[in-house]
Formats: sequence, structure tokens, C-alpha cells
Amino acid sequence: MRVVTDIALGAHLRASTHPESPDRVESVAAALRAHAGIALVEEAYEADDATLSLVHPQSYIDLVARECEAAPGYAPLSTGDVLVGADSFSVARRAVGSVLRAFEGVQQDGAPRFALVRPPGHHAEPARGMGFCLVNNVGILARHLRASTGARVAILDIDYHHGNGTQALVGDGISYVSSHAWPAYPGSGGPREQARTESGDVLLNLPIDPRGISTEGFVALWERAAAFVERSLRPDAIVISAGFDYVRGDPVGDLGVERNAAGALARTFANLAGELGVPLLYVLEGGYDLENIIGSIVEIAAVHDRRAEGTNGAAPEAIPEHLREIFARAEERR
Ligand SMILES: [Zn+2]
Repeated sequence: MRVVTDIALGAHLRASTHPESPDRVESVAAALRAHAGIALVEEAYEADDATLSLVHPQSYIDLVARECEAAPGYAPLSTGDVLVGADSFSVARRAVGSVLRAFEGVQQDGAPRFALVRPPGHHAEPARGMGFCLVNNVGILARHLRASTGARVAILDIDYHHGNGTQALVGDGISYVSSHAWPAYPGSGGPREQARTESGDVLLNLPIDPRGISTEGFVALWERAAAFVERSLRPDAIVISAGFDYVRGDPVGDLGVERNAAGALARTFANLAGELGVPLLYVLEGGYDLENIIGSIVEIAAVHDRRAEGTNGAAPEAIPEHLREIFARAEERR
């Protein structure tokens, strides 16, 4: 599997002790380089204002540019809890460039890729950066695909946290399915926040008790979610918001799920993309334990390199009862 990244992504928060650290790209890339079957590709560029404008109003783009330039060392962005410095906005632009390049690669040869980028993006709303996120990387990709090809995109978010920024983009060709701890930061994504728009786009929130979930339950719920996407959504592209802070031991999240769950999820996503015949891209969101990020990406790469067939066989009964009810209601909402 090709992992698309850029060494310049380490410049954001270089001299800080913030958990969203340069090591999340630099140390992870160095470790992945040593793995057979993983090819690191560095071919990013800085996305321009026109590209960011697919999601973010120019007034917000100007605000981020101004506040990053003016930051004395590091300072919080005025719209939310994102620490920024002089290099932060160029790094965020480069993260978007990496994601767009990575998807172009998938379109060219059909092989799934992993965009190893930072800062993450799923908390960034159109006019409000927050939760370590400046711009919504996956949202910009989805809007770009919609604008250039008319594609309907399903964004599947496995991060510990709910992607309030991505949820804000549902509609006009964007669907969003998210499993996340709830109630927990950022507070959104509760069991009542479900929708199917007139255009057929879906919002499906799968809130998990913050005390955790069994590994089998987590795998089974994503198998169920994938079956839903295949049967009643049938998107033209699948983007995984791949945050690994759900893994046991993460210092920020931690749902008690074993690291090897990433391989089982990858098999589910590979089968889904294969059945639909559509491109599949993973984009890093959160995850603050370096070994968990490395281990999860290695698991994902192994599945895609083997072109693994078959299913995980996780028991549907392992899915918590309240989530089974949410699935049942979502399937009625056609
Ligand atoms: Zn997260």
C-alpha cells in the first residue's frame, strides 16, 4: 500500500509539547519506511484558497492566515482549541494537497492509499477551526470530487471523537457515518442526530459508551455499517476518516479496542469498495499513541496488499443493543 505524506507536515507545532505532534507524521513515516509492502510517497503541494473555499468561506481563510502569521510563538486560534504558529496554515494547506494527490493516485491505479497528514480535519466546521483542526481535509476532498466529477462520497469516520465539522457538510453528495464516544468531546453526534436528505445523502451517528466497547463489537458495528452503505447508499467513492484514538492505550481517547481491529476494519472496507467498484482512501485524523498509529497502518496495509477476501465473521450480537436499533431505524428511512 502506498502511504502519501510530506516531510514538511512536521513544521506545525514543532517546538510545542502538544499531543498533536510532528512525530505523528515524522516518526510514523520513519517506522513505516522499514516495512515491506509499504511505499512512502512524498508528493504534496499547498492547496490554494480556491480549493479551501470549497468548504471554508474566504473570511475564515483570511482569519486563519492572519492569526497564524501574528501568533507569538504559539497561540490558540480565536474560533476554537487549535494551537497555531507561523507555519501552521502552510502545513494545513499541504495536508489538503496530500489528500488530493493521494486520491488522484487511487483513481489512476485503483489501489487504496493512506494519506498520512496533519493537522487533522474532522472537527473543522466551515467557519470554525477547533479540536486541533484548521481545515476539513476529507470535506474538501469530497466537495472537490462532487464539483469535478459529480461523485457522491461516503465519509466513514472511525476516530474516537465525533467529526462535527464533517457532519456539517452532509448533503449535496456527501454522506457521513461515524462511530465515536458519546457523550464526549465535542458533544455532538448523539443518538438522535440521524438524517437522510432529499438528495439521498445520509447522516448516521453510532454513539458508543465512553467506557468502551469490545473489539468484536467495534468490528461488528462497522461490518453492519458497511452493509448499510452497500445496500442503501451506494456511493461513488469511500473516504475513511482514520483516527486511531479509539485504540486501547491512547492518551486522549481510548475505547479499549485492540490495535489489530484496524486490520478487520480494513477487510470490511476493502470488501465494500470492491463490491461497489469504487475508490477507497484512508486519511489520518486523530490518534496520539505513535505505536498504535504505526501498528494500525501496518495492519491496514497488510490487508490491502493481500487483497484479503472473506469476512471477519464478527457476531452481530456483539453490537450494543442501542446501535442495533439505530441501524434498524436508518434502514427504514429510505
Ligand atoms: Zn479524535
